[in-house]
Amino acid sequence: MSQKIDFDYINQLAKRSLGGDLKSFEKLLNILEKYENFPQVKFGLYSLIYQLSMNVFIDVSKECEKCGGKCCKSGYPIPVYEFDYKELAKRMNREELEKLRRVDNIYLLPRPCPFQQGWVCTIHRFKPYACLSFPFATEDEQREIINNYDGKGIPDFKVPEYCIAGKKVKETLNAIISDLEKCLGRKPTPKELYQAIMKKKK
Ligand code: SF4
Ligand code: SF4
Repeated sequence: MSQKIDFDYINQLAKRSLGGDLKSFEKLLNILEKYENFPQVKFGLYSLIYQLSMNVFIDVSKECEKCGGKCCKSGYPIPVYEFDYKELAKRMNREELEKLRRVDNIYLLPRPCPFQQGWVCTIHRFKPYACLSFPFATEDEQREIINNYDGKGIPDFKVPEYCIAGKKVKETLNAIISDLEKCLGRKPTPKELYQAIMKKKK
């Protein structure tokens, strides 16, 4: 990549997008599509569209309630990036912040998560990026898919068996992709997929 990508800025745009700020997402798309020839960037763009659908376009609240919030109950600690921490620090008191662990240079959120009540996330409006991006960017879930992705087609994202919300998102997007494929005669680019989702939303 000839020009350097500012990953901190990219992550902040991604987090704002998942909070429903579509202007941030479009900015992100315009920056990253210049690097679409790199399989990892293209993977990231498709992944963001799945994350955006899960957080903004498709209502998965019933599925998450039915599941009971399994993704917050067990697994490795969740990374809390610097920009996440800054947001948490503005909104939490000292006692709440002390529930995070600091390991080397990074804060971690233990699981079971101390901010979950029943199936509900009590810090939903400012939860860490890693929570927002589950299950479509979580490294453990997608590692094998990223490693094998050659930039051709759309990654077949792995959704854990228990995550019925993630399955709903995948099925919904698969249907949109299949319709687009019939019109285009090929898989849609990330931008084409995003535009088709937006059109359906109207
Ligand atoms: S995101 Fe998936 S695993 Fe997490 S609560 Fe919702 S359905 Fe359950
Ligand atoms: S912060 Fe919220 S979404 Fe993240 S693990 Fe805790 S309860 Fe779950």
